[in-house]
Amino acid sequence: MYLEIFGARGSYPVSGREFIEYGGNTTSILINTDNISVIIDAGTGIINLSKSQKLRQKVYILFTHYHFDHIIGLPYASFIYSNKVDPIIYGPSILDVTAADVVNLMSLPVFSPFNIIEKGINLSFNAIKDGDTIGAGSLKITAIHSPAHPRGGVLIYKIEEREKSVVVATDTEGYVGGDKRLIDLSFKADILIHDAQYTEEEYPKHQGYGHSTPRMAAEVALSAEVKKLILFHHDPSHTDTIIREKEKRARKIFPETTAAYEGMALEL
Ligand SMILES: [Zn+2]
Ligand SMILES: [Zn+2]
Repeated sequence: MYLEIFGARGSYPVSGREFIEYGGNTTSILINTDNISVIIDAGTGIINLSKSQKLRQKVYILFTHYHFDHIIGLPYASFIYSNKVDPIIYGPSILDVTAADVVNLMSLPVFSPFNIIEKGINLSFNAIKDGDTIGAGSLKITAIHSPAHPRGGVLIYKIEEREKSVVVATDTEGYVGGDKRLIDLSFKADILIHDAQYTEEEYPKHQGYGHSTPRMAAEVALSAEVKKLILFHHDPSHTDTIIREKEKRARKIFPETTAAYEGMALEL
């Protein structure tokens, strides 16, 4: 299994000298399994992912939810228009809106100079919901729904292949004592990628916004006994210095912590 982060920023993309180390593109993660490339979310990071030449022929794009920062790169991901790639989009129905509905909306003439679905002739759509497992061969993907994100919640995904596992829990807010379902899902996982948008000091002002702090992420990692924690979905106001500090604080609770940065690559 090969994992690479192409976008680690939350809310909206940023650029500038103070964001060089961690990057400014919004969320997109590539996980290459034996036969299938799995992409979690299509923030602006998916544009560089698309250019990376690392994709297999078969690609699953898994949407956690459809807030702008998780979808905005999709129309510019050139592979979805290539006849050499078979992309299948999996997404939840949120407030009765499916992934196909979202891409249709993005294709409206008022938003886009072309129709994404007409141009992406190989693109297909599948529904996925809480408790579902999908996969092929040795690959297994499990989805659970977290209600701890405003206006419909998100899906958390676990990607497993031959004893290796990665859990992606972005856009979710911590609970007192930790999210028990998330702890169960990620128990002994190799990697937990967890939302850590706010510093502990910022959090009280943003309680209920559906995002976590480094401490919340680290406490879940500790309870779940994962091998490695990756802090994810950095606030757009957070400079490299602030993110480094978030990492330092999380390491006091869970030493095997790294703050996600663009280009972070791990071989499992
Ligand atoms: Zn987000
Ligand atoms: Zn969101």
